[in-house]
Amino acid sequence: MARLTSFPAFHKVAGRIVLIVGPGSAAAAKVRLLSETEARLRVVAEAPGAELLADAERAGAELIHEPFAPQHLEGAVLAFAATEDEAADRGIAEAARAARVPVNVVDRPDLCDFITPALVNRAPLAVAIGTEGAAPVLARHLRAKIEASLAPELGRLASLAENLRATVARVLPGGEARRRFWAALFDGPVAARALAGDAAGARAEAIRMMAAEPDVAGFVWLVGAGPGAIDLLTLRAQRILQEADVIVHDSLVPSEVIAMGRRDAERISVGKRKGRHEATQAEICDILVREARAGRRIVRLKSGDPMVFGRAGEEMAALAAAGIPHEIVPGVTAAFAAAASAKAPLTLRGVSSSLVFATGHDLDGRTLPDWAGLALGGATVAVYMGRSVAGAVAERLVEAGLSPSTPVAAVENASRADETILTGTLRDLPALAERGDVTGPVLILIGRALAESEHVAASPLAPEAARNTAAA
Ligand code: SAH
Repeated sequence: MARLTSFPAFHKVAGRIVLIVGPGSAAAAKVRLLSETEARLRVVAEAPGAELLADAERAGAELIHEPFAPQHLEGAVLAFAATEDEAADRGIAEAARAARVPVNVVDRPDLCDFITPALVNRAPLAVAIGTEGAAPVLARHLRAKIEASLAPELGRLASLAENLRATVARVLPGGEARRRFWAALFDGPVAARALAGDAAGARAEAIRMMAAEPDVAGFVWLVGAGPGAIDLLTLRAQRILQEADVIVHDSLVPSEVIAMGRRDAERISVGKRKGRHEATQAEICDILVREARAGRRIVRLKSGDPMVFGRAGEEMAALAAAGIPHEIVPGVTAAFAAAASAKAPLTLRGVSSSLVFATGHDLDGRTLPDWAGLALGGATVAVYMGRSVAGAVAERLVEAGLSPSTPVAAVENASRADETILTGTLRDLPALAERGDVTGPVLILIGRALAESEHVAASPLAPEAARNTAAA
């Protein structure tokens, strides 16, 4: 992780003096920014411009018509040098440093003790955005987005919380019960009322919630984390991750998604990574039941969609047998991510009207899996866990009567930064198992609908075969 050179903190200024030096619009901008706080503003400018005069008056600032002198720093807790004159600003910074008053020099991050953030003000809630001076325009751009996404009334909700804090501490003893109360408060009917401006109603509803029986039962969510790209996670999954006390995850789930949970949530890896202990399905079910019985809220995080080759069936059965309430949160399954990457339609009018989710692993026996028949009937087949058995998949489908020239796309690490798209035909598919360069999870798509796939930057599935064909 890259480290910050500055530590973001909120500096107390209410009732204290903040000094701003400068005559022009840079100083005026600081006056406007600081007037969002309860600081006492002292503005020093020998010849203040019209903009500064207006802003200083609006902010109720003390205006000193003098050139800057060190005594202007007296009693100040922060200082801003905004004269737009380098030598003057440098002098102010030195004087401030001598007086041990932290100083900010406009547009000179190297001379600053602190950096001013772009600010979204929903007092008492504040969002401060900083780029350590690297890209102020980016910070402002982000501020506009955050401004638009935070309700103007959000401050009321924060005020209500402040108001309730002492009562909550008295009524709800434990950390867990308290945390759940706050989570419910900010997401439910209380929030709705507070945001609508009904402070009394919000408060009454909050008191009602506090008095209700505490919910000590555990809960399990089986959550699909999607194929890997972090922004293919659903909003619901993201929200529920914030609620989990425990996150039980597979190794295919990206670490960024696991990191999205609360910082204090316990993470349990039941990953299937080579050379590491791999929890058996029975052990995973035991962990879920044990943790839920302890009253904890568990997110069982799986790659893709939990209901597709995710062993969700076993886990739901174990939870149901133990009487543990649970819910499923769907995710983008690998087949959809692969189709998107290869720009290959999975169904196509007049060509393919059904879709099969298959695994390569039922090909071990000599009997043809029934999906081979569906493929013959024109279904597009999405093969999960098919890399090592790619040869057998191709062989059995051809045996069943599918043309060796049927289009195939194999997508490794679909949707991730290191994704690779390989295209070819059923004839080339066995080469996939032999390729040493393909080591990530692979989704194989087979079917005539793929012939319609748009041109994408793909490599040949079987490089050898491609070369031979080209030579012939
Ligand atoms: N529940 C998951 C599938 C789990 S089985 C889902 O819905 O996607 C594991 C198999 O999924 C892998 O062997 C691979 O075939 C496929 N897979 C998962 N993530 C993938 C990805 N990013 N790219 C390609 N295939 C992937």
